[in-house]
Amino acid sequence: MIINRNSKCLVIVAHPDDETLWAGGLILLNPQAKWIVITICRKSDTNRAPKFFKALSKLNATGFMGDLDDEPEQNPLPIKDVQETITELLPCNNFDLVVTHSESGEYTRHLRHEETAKAVSDLCHNYEIHTNQFWKFAYEDGRGDYLPKAIDKADLLIELNDKIWQKKCNIITEIYGFDKNSFEAKTIPRKEAFWHIKI
Ligand SMILES: [Zn+2]
Repeated sequence: MIINRNSKCLVIVAHPDDETLWAGGLILLNPQAKWIVITICRKSDTNRAPKFFKALSKLNATGFMGDLDDEPEQNPLPIKDVQETITELLPCNNFDLVVTHSESGEYTRHLRHEETAKAVSDLCHNYEIHTNQFWKFAYEDGRGDYLPKAIDKADLLIELNDKIWQKKCNIITEIYGFDKNSFEAKTIPRKEAFWHIKI
């Protein structure tokens, strides 16, 4: 996959910060492309929402937020609601690349990650979103035994250099404001990994 200056790339995530944690390096390493990021939750979170847009400006991306339930109880959402939220936020439905969560999530566990994966997968497979390439994040945490890390046998592995990794760290700690001992700050993958999904 060559991401070039004409490429239109879409990243769909559950929460503001997921774009940086799991794909920030991919985005920063391809500044020539047009990046759009959609998050399905937290639009009305007056603390997190402005941070999302600040993060996007560091990533040189534009984005849109949905406002689906994100309470700690993680009551399951109907996949149809997740799909509607996404399609309503999309500025267009033709892309060169779509990247989203994996159905098995990146860690144990956040239901919204898994629901986002399922919703986006269906949208791509049903051609409600047209894309040349469809990738999913490839991380695992040993069912909670350790912090999430890239799956080495994934289809694409990107080892980030110091400069790019540091930029990711700055977004997570300085813009999103996560403490350096937080799960998020300790996780920040230095290696990013993606599955290439057939559509
Ligand atoms: Zn998340």
